[in-house]
Amino acid sequence: VNQQRERHTLQTVAEPQDLSELLHLRSTLGPNTMLLAGGTDLGVQMRRHLVHPRHLVSLTRVAELHRLELLRSEVVIGAAVTHRTIEDSPLFRGPLLALREACATVGSVQTRNVGTIVGNLCNASPAADTPPVLLAMGARVTLLGPLGTRTLPLSEFFVEYRKTALADDEVMTAVQVPVSGSPTGSAFVKLGRRLAMEISIACVGASISLGADGAITDIGIGLGSVAPISMRATDAEDELRGTRPTVETLQRAADAASAAARPVDDHRASASYRRAMVNVLTKRALNRALNRATDALGVSHE
Ligand SMILES: Cc1cc2nc3c(=O)[nH]c(=O)nc-3n(C[C@H](O)[C@H](O)[C@H](O)COP(=O)(O)OP(=O)(O)OC[C@H]3O[C@@H](n4cnc5c(N)ncnc54)[C@H](O)[C@@H]3O)c2cc1C
Repeated sequence: VNQQRERHTLQTVAEPQDLSELLHLRSTLGPNTMLLAGGTDLGVQMRRHLVHPRHLVSLTRVAELHRLELLRSEVVIGAAVTHRTIEDSPLFRGPLLALREACATVGSVQTRNVGTIVGNLCNASPAADTPPVLLAMGARVTLLGPLGTRTLPLSEFFVEYRKTALADDEVMTAVQVPVSGSPTGSAFVKLGRRLAMEISIACVGASISLGADGAITDIGIGLGSVAPISMRATDAEDELRGTRPTVETLQRAADAASAAARPVDDHRASASYRRAMVNVLTKRALNRALNRATDALGVSHE
């Protein structure tokens, strides 16, 4: 019984000041060490005895992880950047608007004040709100470990249900979101049993870039809550890439997205309802993203 109790005891909450101290603590505190960002997932999991960390290493005092900046062709979002910061940032009012829309639906203001985008990714829930948008935008993630950093497409980060490409000794330091030079629009739509404080029955993120002739030069579609992982609907994207979109091609893309989904029955909805909703939500997200891209194309021609 004592051993059992000890296994459940949290011994240390470390607050490193920089990345090298963070990595050092991560590797020296030993097994049962977990990273703590906002704690909105981890705190709940600890209270429910789903995880039993002996040591927590907090990210919040590492200044570098708070970076949020536009470099030449990408926005870099550090691991300590919260949903609320994204909502308030002017960087997410143009082509990257969908990320703001997704962040704005996460829990309550209190959840968003401390919860981070990177925590949303690393928790790897297939029902999370920001991954479909970040997948649609072609985001990449940077992982730092004792041997250095590696960057991989977010689509390769989610491996299987709640399993990611993150190694035990690694930390995700940032997510990079490309900003297209072409007129671009994005959108996020979420269907839930109610509007706030509820994970989705299905959600879709879309991003569309247009050439001067109105043809789609780049497209991304991400799906949430309808497969074991947040997934990119590549067949649906292929229906539209290089074309001037019509009602028929948008419908074909929506059909391809629902065909690619692998939903399950649960207490929120049946698999068949989810599949039908992927169709509806994909069309809705694509139409919104397309309208926004078309507006941006109009502005770029003025
Ligand atoms: C009331 C409530 C409502 C919610 N509603 C929603 C919702 O509508 N939509 C939604 O998507 N989510 C929702 N959530 C879930 C949660 O708020 C989000 O997933 C949030 O983004 C998690 O971020 P965090 O910073 O709190 O992560 P934490 O809880 O600190 O960490 C989550 C996991 O990621 C790991 N981790 C964190 N940062 C890193 C890193 N840099 N590198 C490696 N691993 C890391 C942690 O070790 C932990 O395993 C809700 C939660 C609550 C409590």
